[in-house]
Amino acid sequence: MLISQISNESLESYFDMRVLLVEDEPDLGAAMKRTLKQHKYLVDWVMDGTEAWSYLENGSANYTLAIIDWMLPGITGLELCKRLRMRENSLPVLMLTARDRMEDKIAGLDAGADDYLVKPFGIGELLARLRALQRRSPHFQAQKLSVGNLTLDYGNNSVICQDAIGNKQTISLTNKEFQLLEYFMKHPNQIVTTEQIRNQLWEVSAETGSNVVAAQMRLLRRKLAASSCTSSIETLHSVGYRLNSTL
Ligand code: CA
Repeated sequence: MLISQISNESLESYFDMRVLLVEDEPDLGAAMKRTLKQHKYLVDWVMDGTEAWSYLENGSANYTLAIIDWMLPGITGLELCKRLRMRENSLPVLMLTARDRMEDKIAGLDAGADDYLVKPFGIGELLARLRALQRRSPHFQAQKLSVGNLTLDYGNNSVICQDAIGNKQTISLTNKEFQLLEYFMKHPNQIVTTEQIRNQLWEVSAETGSNVVAAQMRLLRRKLAASSCTSSIETLHSVGYRLNSTL
């Protein structure tokens, strides 16, 4: 199999775009979550510092970055940052705060925050800061991913697929189909379980049974099959799925 990174022009890629949002103001948190989702981030939102730490500590969700409010119930944002850095965890952190005094900024940065955003802020500024964090992050990756005869195109939300005689077709995908196929392309020719897919692609709070994964799988397969793509996703009954990629 061939995995190549073709270009890295776009920062709005789906790669590992999982964000932990820690914000205790309900209206602001909800608005941020909604906006981030519209911009293709997968967001876990928690409103309490202690809960946030449990997410960060077990690390199971593999966040790309965290947006953490300074003043929180439970553990403060500043303390969360310090704890992460004490564990030599380099997760990029954007700190939010209503404080704008210089000494607070310095304290935040000293605690290990990578950047700082003072409330109130515009969504445009938030997105720009996140892109800048991603650009500096080792987690950041390229705009296209190729495995076998499939190439994901992050800019166009599509996959380019080659049929048996070498003709290329572009298939448009929904956000979820795209994330699903990307996950398979990062684990080609390997068995992935329904649970792995659910944990990786759905938010922790989402009440998603195995049915939702199966339903998305059907949609994705139908699109691949309609294009005469020679790569296919096989069902391994009661185990999971496997992308059988061909060159
Ligand atoms: Ca707060």
